[in-house]
Parts: sequence; C-alpha cells; structure tokens
Amino acid sequence: MDDVRHLSMNTSKNSVSAWHNLSVESSFETVNTSATGLKQQVAEERLKRYGKNSLPKAKKRSAFIRFLSHFHNILIYVLLGSAVVTAALAHWIDTGVILAVVMANAIISFIQEGKAESAMGAIQQMLAPIAHVIRDAERVSIDGEELVPGDIVLIEAGDKVPADLRLFDAHGLSIQESILTGESVAVEKLTSPVDEQAALGDRTCMAFSGTLVSSGQGKGIVIATGGNTEIGRISRLLSEVETLTTPLIRQMNVFAKWLTLVILVLASILLVFGYFSAQHDFAEMFMSVVGLSVAAIPEGLPAVLTITLAIGVQAMARRQAIVRRLPAIETLGSVSVICSDKTGTLTRNEMMVASVLTQQHLFTIEGEGYRPKGALKLNEQQISPSEHSVLEEMARAAILCNDASLIEREGVWRTEGDPMEGALLSFSAKMNVEARTELALWKRTDAIPFDARHRYMATLSHDHQHHACIFVKGAPERILEMCDSQRNASGQNEALDREHWQQKMLTMAAKGQRLLAFAMKPVDANYSVLEQDDLQHSLILLGIVGLIDPPRSEAIKAVAECHVAGIRVKMITGDHAETAAAIAKQIGLKNSQNVLTGKELDGLDEQQLKAQVLECDIFARTSPEHKLRLVTAIQAHGLTVAMTGDGVNDAPALKRADAGIAMGLKGSEAAKEAAELVLADDNFATIVSAVREGRTVYDNLKKIISWTLPTNAGEAMTIIVALLFGMTLPITPVQILWVNLITAVTLGIALAFEPTEENTMRRPPRSRDESLLSVELMWHIVLVSMLFLSGVYGIYHYAINQGYSVELARTLAVNTLVVMEIFHLFFIRNIHGTSLTWKAICGTKVIWRVVFVISCAQFAITYLPWLQAIFGTESIAFWDGILVVGIGVMLFVVIEVEKQLRLLVGRVRA
Ligand code: ATP
Repeated sequence: MDDVRHLSMNTSKNSVSAWHNLSVESSFETVNTSATGLKQQVAEERLKRYGKNSLPKAKKRSAFIRFLSHFHNILIYVLLGSAVVTAALAHWIDTGVILAVVMANAIISFIQEGKAESAMGAIQQMLAPIAHVIRDAERVSIDGEELVPGDIVLIEAGDKVPADLRLFDAHGLSIQESILTGESVAVEKLTSPVDEQAALGDRTCMAFSGTLVSSGQGKGIVIATGGNTEIGRISRLLSEVETLTTPLIRQMNVFAKWLTLVILVLASILLVFGYFSAQHDFAEMFMSVVGLSVAAIPEGLPAVLTITLAIGVQAMARRQAIVRRLPAIETLGSVSVICSDKTGTLTRNEMMVASVLTQQHLFTIEGEGYRPKGALKLNEQQISPSEHSVLEEMARAAILCNDASLIEREGVWRTEGDPMEGALLSFSAKMNVEARTELALWKRTDAIPFDARHRYMATLSHDHQHHACIFVKGAPERILEMCDSQRNASGQNEALDREHWQQKMLTMAAKGQRLLAFAMKPVDANYSVLEQDDLQHSLILLGIVGLIDPPRSEAIKAVAECHVAGIRVKMITGDHAETAAAIAKQIGLKNSQNVLTGKELDGLDEQQLKAQVLECDIFARTSPEHKLRLVTAIQAHGLTVAMTGDGVNDAPALKRADAGIAMGLKGSEAAKEAAELVLADDNFATIVSAVREGRTVYDNLKKIISWTLPTNAGEAMTIIVALLFGMTLPITPVQILWVNLITAVTLGIALAFEPTEENTMRRPPRSRDESLLSVELMWHIVLVSMLFLSGVYGIYHYAINQGYSVELARTLAVNTLVVMEIFHLFFIRNIHGTSLTWKAICGTKVIWRVVFVISCAQFAITYLPWLQAIFGTESIAFWDGILVVGIGVMLFVVIEVEKQLRLLVGRVRA
C-alpha cells in the first residue's frame, strides 16, 4: 500500500516545519520513497491524490467588471453627458445614436481585450517549467506540474526548484532564495538536518519551490507540491500581472489623453463662441461640438494598438518565439546586431563522436545519431576497440564523468540530459564498454559539475575493491593545463607532450569538430571529497574526442536573411577558436577568419574592445562574463543588440542586452527569467522570424496610427471649417457619429492583421530613437486631412450646384468620406512599397470582410427608409455613386504619387 505519512500532506505548521529537522533516512521513509525514485504507477496515483504541482491562480476580474471598465474613459463620460443633454432637449434620435456608439465601443473593446488576455495566458502556459526526476530508477524529464510528494528531483545550476525538496545529495550547491527570504546572496546547501527552530533562510538541507540554483548540483525528495509549498502559502502576494503595453503604446496612450483634453477644451470654446457670439441655436451647436469631439478624438486607437500587440505576440508564439516582456516586440523590430551562441542555436546540438585522438593514433568512428553502434576505423581499416586499451579507459571515463542517459523509444535513440554527454555514452557503447556494468562497479562519491567558467567536469568514483579514481573531461586546453603525464599506446604513463596534442587538436578543430579531452588520476581509497586544487598538474591525459554537430540548414538561410536586412550576426561560443571559425564559415558569417578569443578579450580595455568589436564576428573560448562586456561594447556604438544565452551566468548579459533571448529547451530557468524572449526550439532561425515579426508589428502600429490620425483630423476639420465660416454642415453630427462607429472599430482593426510587407527584411533596421510621430507622419496627417476636406466639400458643393437637396448633398458627402477612408486604408497597407501591385489590390481576407460590412452599412443608411429617417439621408443616383467612388480613386492616386516621389527622393539620397 502506498502510504505517505502525515508530514507530506499535512499543512499544519508543526508537521511541515519538521522536514528540515528529519534525517535523510526518515524523510525517505516518511514519504515512502527511495533514491531510485517512485514507480510510474505510484506517481500517477499520488498525482490523483495530491493534485497538480501548480500554484493557485490569481483571481481574475469578473467579466462584468471588465465590461464596465470600458466606460471609464473621458470621451465616454462626455458622450454619456451629451446623451443626457440631448434627452433633456428631447432629441431622441441623437440620444439613441450616442448611446449606440457608447455601447458598440464598449462591446468591441471588451471582446478585443478578452482575446488579447487569453492570448497572453496561453503564452504563459508555454513557459511551464520541466523537472528532472528519477522514476523507475531512470532519469526522466517531466512537466513540473506532474511532480508528486516522494519524487526524486535532480537540480543543477540555473534550475528553478520545482517543488519543496528535502535534499539528500549536494555538490557545491547554493541557492538564491530572495523570492522567499528577500536575501539576494545565495545560500550554501548541505544535507544534514538543522535545528527545528531554524528560520526559513537557515534551513540549509531544504530547497524551496521557485528559488533559483546558482551553482552546483543536488538531489532532493519532493515533500510538498503546489499550494502546500512555502511559495504556495504566500503566492497570494505574488500574483504577477503583466499589462498589455509597450513604450510605444504607452506613448500613444498619453498622446491620446492629451489630444482628448485639447479637443474637449476647443469644443467647449466653440460651443460658448457659437452660442453667445454667433447666436447659433444651442441644441444644434451642442450636437455640432459633440460631433466634433467624436470625430477628432481617436477613441478606438488604444484598443486597436493593444490588439495589434496581442496578434504580434501570438504570431511570434506560432513561430516558437515566446515573448516574456512585451516591450521586446518593439525592440526586436529595431535589432541591428544579433549575438548568438553556437551550440544548439546555430548548430543542431545533435552530437556524435566522429574522431578519437590518443597518444599514437587518430581514429575515426562511424555511426548514426545517438545509436550506440558504429565501426571504429584506423586509416580507413575497421579495427576492434579491444586492440587499444586506452580507448576502453576513455570510454569508462566518458560513462562515469557523465550525467546523461541514453534511451531507445520506438527504435529511435534519444538522450536525456546534455546531448554531448549522450553522444559520449553512445561512443562508449561503440567501444564495447557497457554503461550499466561500469555504473554498477563504480559508485560516484563526489563531483565538480561542469561550469562554463572553468570548462571541465570531474567526478570521484570508488569501486568495490577499494580503488578510487578521479575522472575528468573538459575543454582540451584546460585539461592539458591540469595534466603532467599521458597514457601511451602500451598503457604506460609517460611525460606529457603538449606540442603533439596541440598540433593534432588543430586539425580536428579545423573540421568544425567540438573537442573534449579525458583525463584520470587514481587516488587513495580514503579520499572522499573532490577539491579543485587536487586536480591541478597531476592528471594523466587519456585522449581527446572530436564531436560533430552539423550547422542547422535553416540557420544558414536565416544568417543570409539577416545580412540582407542590415543585421550583423556575431557568434559567441565557449568552443575552440578553430572549431568556431570552421562552423562560422559553414553558416556564412562575415569575416569568418577573424576570431577573438576570451584570453585576447581579457587583454583589451573597454576602449580597445569598442574599437575592435564591430570588425570581428566570432568570439571563441569565451565565458559568460565576456558576453556582458561584448554587449556593452556594441551598445556603445548606438546599436540595438539581441543576445542569446542559456546558462545561469548568462543572466547579466541577457539583462543588459536590448533583447535578451533565452533557450527554451537547453536554457536554464535563470536565463529564462532574465530574458525578454524565449526560443521554444533553441533555433537561430526563430530569432530571425521574431525580428521579422517585430518589424511587422511595429509597421502595423505605425499603419494604424497613420490611418487613424488623418482620418480623425479630416472629419474634425470638416466640422470646424463649417462652424468657423458659418456654413451649413456638409455632414451632420449624427452622421459623423455613425461614421466613427462603423469605421474606427472595423477598418482600423483590419490593419492589426496586416501580414509582413514583402520588403520588410530588405530594409535596414530602424533607428533606436526613431520617433513614431515623425515629421513624415505629421505631413501625412496634413495632406490627407486636406484631401478629405476637399473631397467632402467638393462633392457637397457639386450637389448643391446641381440643385440637390441639402439632405442628398450630405448623403453624398458622408459616403464620399467613407469611400475615401477605404481607399486610404488600401494605401496605408504598403507604406514602404508600392500599393499598385495585384497582391496589394487583392488585400487580405480581413480587409475585404470589413470593406464588405462597411459597404452594406453605407447602402443601408443610404437606401433603407427607416435609417434614412434617423440619419437624414436620401437615395443616391447611380452616376453620383460612381462619382463618389471616383473621388476615392483620385485620393488614392494623389497620395500614392506623393509616396512614390518621396521614396524616390529617399533612394536617390541614399
Ligand atoms: P555555445 O553554446 O556558447 O556556443 P559551447 O556549448 O560550445 O558554447 P560551453 O558550453 O561553454 O560552450 O562549453 C565550452 C567547452 O567546454 C566545450 O567546447 C567543451 O570542450 C567543454 N564542455 C562543454 N560541456 C561540457 C561538459 N558537460 N563536461 C565537460 N566539458 C564540457
């Protein structure tokens, strides 16, 4: 019977606080588990019993409250006030139209906001953490939510602890617990029990859910999950709320607020002036200024911009780029330099040992993926591994100094853990050394985990015959420094011949192979704690393996696309300089011969680095600290930098970069927390897709603003001119309300769905401080609003001159206004290219859908008698209808010619 005793599930204070006071053995017993983990079936039963390991969700605002919040807006207050005034004056039609506008606005904004929020929610789901556990005595990765009390969890530097753990194994483990304790210095973790009264920060044998592992490795028993964890108990205080906004949208919201205020002041002045000075009828004057306010205020703009952003976030997620911080969408669009890791991002991270260098020979190894079968060859001749004892020793070191495992599922071999370590297990099997046998013979007693700063990993193992041995693997330069002897062909030790190894290494690296050296050292059987100092200058070098990791074909294309888009790609890798240069050449980086190494970087001061950083595209044997210096140096040139990272130490560079990008698959939680963007597939091509999407979103925001502002200005001018010059209004206030009701929320939204323009990735990146409300946009507003004004007044006067009634003239004017807005929309879709292509005319489905809806609506108010009564319209004759469309075409021609001239001048200047 699976029995988890009281401690694990009981949340009462006394029982939970005792975990840190229990010995490891009692903890195992209490949750009824062992170091080999739970059986899968037991885990499933416990999952049903204790529920998912997720924190209780923060309560959302109710739909009704959300709906009401859309009435909280200055313009809406003004409109509601106007409805009261018009009702008091018994102008029921006006009251009805105003209330309809208000309701329509609230309903549409409510639906849009709901969509945007659920898009964001879905994206947060994609960032759910993975936990590494031991189940059925095998290491497996599972969804963090599926952890249950009794699971054995493995943690290492960079991980976020997935549940509350009682640690029973810790090697150099320290954890940053500021989320719980407020203390930013990492706490060293051990396994021995501590005093029952110890404060949370002093419970050194515990690892708490949500905290970040800053160094080392450890194993722990899950003792509490979900709401029962320490973080679960305070999670009410931590409900993270991310609002859907970016600097640009915030800027636009502030702009819209000021504009609203200015317009309202202006409208009030006009009302006072018209009523007292010009002696207009109050009701008429009142409706005119209400019409003016509605015409001029871009009330739908913030909502449309927000939905554009949400669509952008979704589009990026579809392309495997998950946005963690929304401003990143804008930043990505302006990226001018991408600094990328090599392994797994530019290359596939599907490794295979292809060559082995020993003191005497250079062997080649054949095979396919991680399949543990393949021939060993020397000078093209197949040979047996047993003829060379050193190969067997290397294979043993590869198994014992390794944290990964190889698994076969449905005939496909995969690795759990680091792919390079998986490849080493496959190599060992090809050398006929069985991992299971070695692991049964040798027990690991201590380890120094791999760290990108020291570039090696070491383990101490003891066998049953009282032998003890240290096994080390790592970057060859580093391992050579630590060795004083080498194993020769006859299995004897002799003095280390550095020259020989270094020379041979270069030929392997020049083929793009990733190099890894193996060394060992027998030690006394009593030796039990591995110290870094014990490894210096005393190891025996066994040999070096060369691993192939082919470049991703999509990365090659993406790099070429970046170059066309004016984006520099720089590779920053921990690998050997020769390997890096060879891979850089294969993927088409510029300057693939010019490599700066970490050591050379250390010799440069900030000024020298700034001077050299733009010329060099490959940085090899770097450590995470170099990344930070490199970002800073590139930014000093005023460039916008995107930087990738995966390790715990990459966090400062990711934070410093304009767009920090973490790897979703192999990245640590620490890197993800620091990043703005997470790549679900670790692929360089995804970064480029995100940049393309970032440019598209920015363009679309710009298009929406460039469409809305001139439209509003044109409508407002129509009323202002009439009021100022004491003319009859060519469009009545109710008609203006109607136009706004149907156009602002439909045509504007269509632009949010605009696909990427064809030349988007052929343009250089936009400047970091380009202002959206540019001179160009101002000019566009003036030009288009003047054309709108001319169109409306032109047709109105044409109609009056023809002897038409004022009602018919107004009907023609209001239809002309809508037609011009539609043509303006088609124009705005291609702000960087020509709108006169078949593709541009075909538009998008959304565009044609809104055009259809609006045309139907216009036909309805023009020809349906009951709507004619409300809006004061009359039926238009066929040829006048053609004239209305003709004016739209003329507007299109004028603004298109103006744009082409502007683009031409721009090109000539460039
Ligand atoms: P990048 O992803 O930045 O391109 P990388 O994966 O090549 O870099 P690191 O992970 O910093 O860089 O590794 C640097 C070197 O350290 C590797 O070339 C390899 O020789 C060695 N190394 C990598 N992983 C391990 C490991 N698990 N154990 C021992 N040595 C390792």
